[in-house]
Amino acid sequence: MTYDLVVIGSGPGGYEGAIRASQNGLKVAIVERELLGGICLNWGCIPTKALLKSAEVFDKINHLGDYGLTGEKPGFDFDKVVARSRAVAKQLNGGVGYLMKKNKIDVIEGFATLSPGKDAPKVTVKLNKGGEQVVEAKNVMLAVGARAREIPAIGAVADGEAIWTYRNALTPKKIPKSLVVIGSGAIGIEFASFYRSLGADVTVIEALDRILPVEDKEVSAEAHKAFEKRGIKFRVGAKVTKVEKAGAGVKVSVEAGGKSEVLEAEGCIVAVGIVANTDGIGLDKLGVEMDRGHVKNDAHGKTNVKGLYAIGDCAGPPWLAHKASHEAVHAADYMAGKKGSNLNPPIPGCTYATPEVASVGITEQGAKEKGIDVKIGRFPFKANGKAIAAGEPGGFVKVIFDKTTGALIGAHMIGANVTEMIQGFCLAMTMEATEEDLQGTIFPHPTMSEAILEASLDADGKMINL
Ligand code: NAD
Repeated sequence: MTYDLVVIGSGPGGYEGAIRASQNGLKVAIVERELLGGICLNWGCIPTKALLKSAEVFDKINHLGDYGLTGEKPGFDFDKVVARSRAVAKQLNGGVGYLMKKNKIDVIEGFATLSPGKDAPKVTVKLNKGGEQVVEAKNVMLAVGARAREIPAIGAVADGEAIWTYRNALTPKKIPKSLVVIGSGAIGIEFASFYRSLGADVTVIEALDRILPVEDKEVSAEAHKAFEKRGIKFRVGAKVTKVEKAGAGVKVSVEAGGKSEVLEAEGCIVAVGIVANTDGIGLDKLGVEMDRGHVKNDAHGKTNVKGLYAIGDCAGPPWLAHKASHEAVHAADYMAGKKGSNLNPPIPGCTYATPEVASVGITEQGAKEKGIDVKIGRFPFKANGKAIAAGEPGGFVKVIFDKTTGALIGAHMIGANVTEMIQGFCLAMTMEATEEDLQGTIFPHPTMSEAILEASLDADGKMINL
C-alpha cells in the first residue's frame, strides 16, 4: 500500500502533524524508533515539569510558616519523586498511542532511512522486532528531533554516572550533594532549580556574560538575583576548559576573567544546546540541502527534495516543542491543499524554574540592534495584590511597543505562574494588538495578569497601582 504521508519521528511535531494529516483525509503512517511522544513527552518537557512540581511543593511546605501554617519538617523519597515523573511520562506516551489508534494512523516501530523514490523518498524501516519494512508514500515528513550536544574536545561527554545530559538528569539514582551545570539555557536552569530545591549545592557555568542569554537583559539580571538568593552559584563569562572524572565525581576546569579554577562536584550536567538527529538517515545521498547541521525547509516545511518535508528541531531553531507542532500541523494542511494555520506567529519561550521566566517577541536589546524606536512599560509583582496574597511578590512584567505604530512587539516576564500568563501576550501579538488594545482590555481582579495591564499603562506613564 502507498501512504499519503509517512511521518518519521513521533515527538510533538511528528505525532501532531500525523493527526492533522489524518484529519485532512490522508492515509498516514508514523515511524518511531523509541517511544511515542519523543523527547518532549518521555525525556524532556513533561517529565521535567513533574520533577519541578515536586520541587515547588517541597519549597512551599518548607515555608509553611509564611502562610500561617504549621507542620513537621518535610522530607522526600527521591525514588518516588523520580518514579512519579516517569509515571507521568508513561501516561502521556500511552496517550499518544491512543491518539494514533483513534486517528487510524499506522505506527511502525523501528529506524527509518531514506532513498530515492517516486513521489517522495522511499522509506525503509529497520524494525525493532527484527527485519525490514519498505514504506512507499506520496509525502514524507522528517520530524526526527534533536539530542543533547556534547563537547568531546573538553571531555564534556555523558557517562551516565557523574557526567550527565538531560536524560541522565531525569533518572538519577540519588541526588548529588554537589552539582556543576554547564550552560544556563532552559535545560541548565531548570535542572539547577530542581536539584537546588532538593538540597544540592549547585554551580552553573555560562560562557556568555549573563544567564538565560536569549532573554531580555533585565530578565536575566532578575533571574540571576533570584536564583542566587536560592543559593545557586553562577560563573558567567566563563569558559569550561576540561571536564574529567575524579573518583566517583567530576572536576570541571573553568576560566573566567583571566583566572582559572577547578570545581569539584559529585555530578555535572552538560546543557550546552542540542544537535539535530540527521545522521544515518540517508539525507546526504538524497542531496537534501542542509543549513548549519539542520535540514533546510521553506515556510511550509518543504525541503529541496520532492515530497520531503522537515519540521521541528531537525529543521532548526528555536528548538521548542510548540514550534515543532505548529510547523507540522501547517505542513500537514499545506500538503493536503488546505488553508494552513498562520505562517509565522510569534513563538514564546518558557523556563519552568523557580521563579519562572516567559517571553515572546523582541527584547529591548534586539529592538535597539534593529533600530526600532520603542516604548517600554514595566510592572513589578510586588505591587500586585494577588501576587502579594499568594506570597509570590518576586519578578515583573515588561512590555515593548513600537513607538511609531503602537504595536506590541515584545513581552518579558519573570515570577510565579508567568509561563501560564504568556499566552495572553502571544494571542495579542498574533492578532497584532497595540498598546491601546492592551490598555483597553479588562483583566480579572485579583489576578497576577493585572500586571500585564499595568505594564502596558506604564508605557504611557499611566500606571495606576504604583
Ligand atoms: P541552550 O542553547 O538554550 O543553552 C545552552 C547555554 O550553554 C547557552 O547559554 C550557551 O551560551 C551555553 N554554553 C554553550 N557552550 C558552553 C560552554 N562550553 N561552557 C559554558 N556555557 C556554554 O541549550 P539547552 O539549555 O541545552 O536547551 C536545548 C534546547 O532545548 C534549547 O533550544 C531550549 O530552548 C530547548 N528547551 C526548552 C525548554 C523549555 O521550553 N522550557 C526546556 C528545555 C530545553
